[in-house]
Amino acid sequence: MSAGNNQGQQVPILVLKEGTTETRDKDAKRNNITAAKVVAELVRTSLGPRGMDKMLVDSLGDVTITNDGATILKEIDVQHPAAKMMVEVAKSVDNEVGDGTTSSVVLAGALIEKAEELIDKNVHPTVIVDGYQKASEKALDMLKEDIAIKSNPEDKTLLNKIAVTSMASKLVANDAQELSNIVVDAVLSVAEKLKEDRGEDKIKVDIDNIKVEKKAGASIHDTQLIHGIILDKEVVHAAMPKRIDNAKIALLNCPLEIEKTEMSAEIRINQPQQMQKFLDEENRMLKSMVDKIKSSGANVVLCQKGIDDMAQHYLSKEEILAVRRIKESDMTKLSKATGARIITNIDELSSTDLGSAELVEERKVETDKWVFVEGCKNPNALSILVRGGSQRIVDEAERSVHDAIMTVKDVIEYPYVIVGGGATEIAMSQKIREWSGSLSGREQLAAEKFADALESIPLVLAENAGMDIIDTQVQLRAKSSSSGRKARYGVDVLEGKVADLASKSIYEPLLVKEQIIKSATEAASMILRIDNVISASKSKGAGAPPQPGAGAGGYGGGGAGGYGGYEDME
Ligand code: ADP
Ligand code: MG
Repeated sequence: MSAGNNQGQQVPILVLKEGTTETRDKDAKRNNITAAKVVAELVRTSLGPRGMDKMLVDSLGDVTITNDGATILKEIDVQHPAAKMMVEVAKSVDNEVGDGTTSSVVLAGALIEKAEELIDKNVHPTVIVDGYQKASEKALDMLKEDIAIKSNPEDKTLLNKIAVTSMASKLVANDAQELSNIVVDAVLSVAEKLKEDRGEDKIKVDIDNIKVEKKAGASIHDTQLIHGIILDKEVVHAAMPKRIDNAKIALLNCPLEIEKTEMSAEIRINQPQQMQKFLDEENRMLKSMVDKIKSSGANVVLCQKGIDDMAQHYLSKEEILAVRRIKESDMTKLSKATGARIITNIDELSSTDLGSAELVEERKVETDKWVFVEGCKNPNALSILVRGGSQRIVDEAERSVHDAIMTVKDVIEYPYVIVGGGATEIAMSQKIREWSGSLSGREQLAAEKFADALESIPLVLAENAGMDIIDTQVQLRAKSSSSGRKARYGVDVLEGKVADLASKSIYEPLLVKEQIIKSATEAASMILRIDNVISASKSKGAGAPPQPGAGAGGYGGGGAGGYGGYEDME
């Protein structure tokens, strides 16, 4: 790209690398706005209980069926940098609070769309961004001060309502009640009260304590809560016991095998007796490893590495139950749950390193055999075994259970709730519109647009439920302003009318709503601020879609030089 000098016929000065393209001002803004709107459009129809699911087929032909905004956007391969920023919104909301991913993308899309109307009227994007920023801060204040309802973090009924609402929009909606009982039980039992300095107790939930396992087969309502840890591995040897009560557990991170040397050595054997001696020696070494385990008092061995056939044989003779090739993440969980120390050198194993559990048992789960470690020393170790008719169903059920766990955690840690179904957004929108009168000049226009954008949530919910948009909007505004300070009236998508959703128990965590507003405003502002897009030329092979984890991806690795920053957004 060349930056020419207008005067005379001087040689153009090359500023940017050859092949670099630059789009500026109107074009750059237009392109970004369009790309962001396209992404929002894509997930819009999935919002809410009447939202549709998406079927995504990846390049290997694997099918995912989902309603989850973050999952949809994760699976599709978005190329445009502004579109990638929208994908980031969903991801960040998913990481922070676990739910509200679709809403955040829809809201960001609406903010950008409304801003476009102002840009068309020659309002400068900086003014719009400032107005949005102020409106968003005000909205967050109002949300916490006026609209949110303080809740009791141990109120099981309310937590159940929260979990059910988060699953209402998913494939598992019919079984939401049962699943929510499991989720609430699980989350409450891992919740820990921390004493704060200022006398106020704080509750923390470490959701890593809840292991979610899934297995296709049976049906969703066969989903179980297990007080312990599930290993998707079987007992290594048929002659070993399949059930051990009062288990003393050794966790090994070393193989129960004779290690092959790194060097290639050659052993010449010219007499059969020598061969026998050689094998005997190997067996003796394996036997001594097993003896070590036996003398430590362990009756269960859970090993991250392999276990030799002969060692298996000796272990089974000693009535020890053993499992091999356990995932590292599971080993950490087992260590936490049973109190066992992970041993890397078998010679160090002693009775103090062992962990304990009431029961270790191999059970049949469909066609597989899995090992269940139950009644662990640490009662905080829990697993949820998600079941469902087919692989796609369990996959989506697992995602929904994850969302529910996160929303329940959100409310326990930050005990405020709000009414869902767009009731909160309508109330906020009205308050922001009133308040915008206090702003001067063009920022006021931006704040009004912010209020309009908030309305898009209930309106999209209504649209997806096949309701009339204009009627809904009029009714929502009328009912909401007559309902006093608290937000109650929203879109009852199941009945297809505007109704009091507080009485229908549609509650959501305040934390999720706050995160949606923050992330959507940030993303919209960031996209609106861009007036210049400079892209490095794509190197060869850039045509192929970037493979996840393939390093530089499609944006031309080293060649991309200083502009290669796109990879950060993947
Ligand atoms: P997200 O990814 O943003 O969580 P969802 O598809 O889960 O998207 O939809 C969430 C929206 O659906 C929220 O605004 C929530 O209040 C609303 N919602 C959930 N259940 C109901 C219901 N029974 N009636 C009306 N709205 C509901
Ligand atoms: Mg949701």
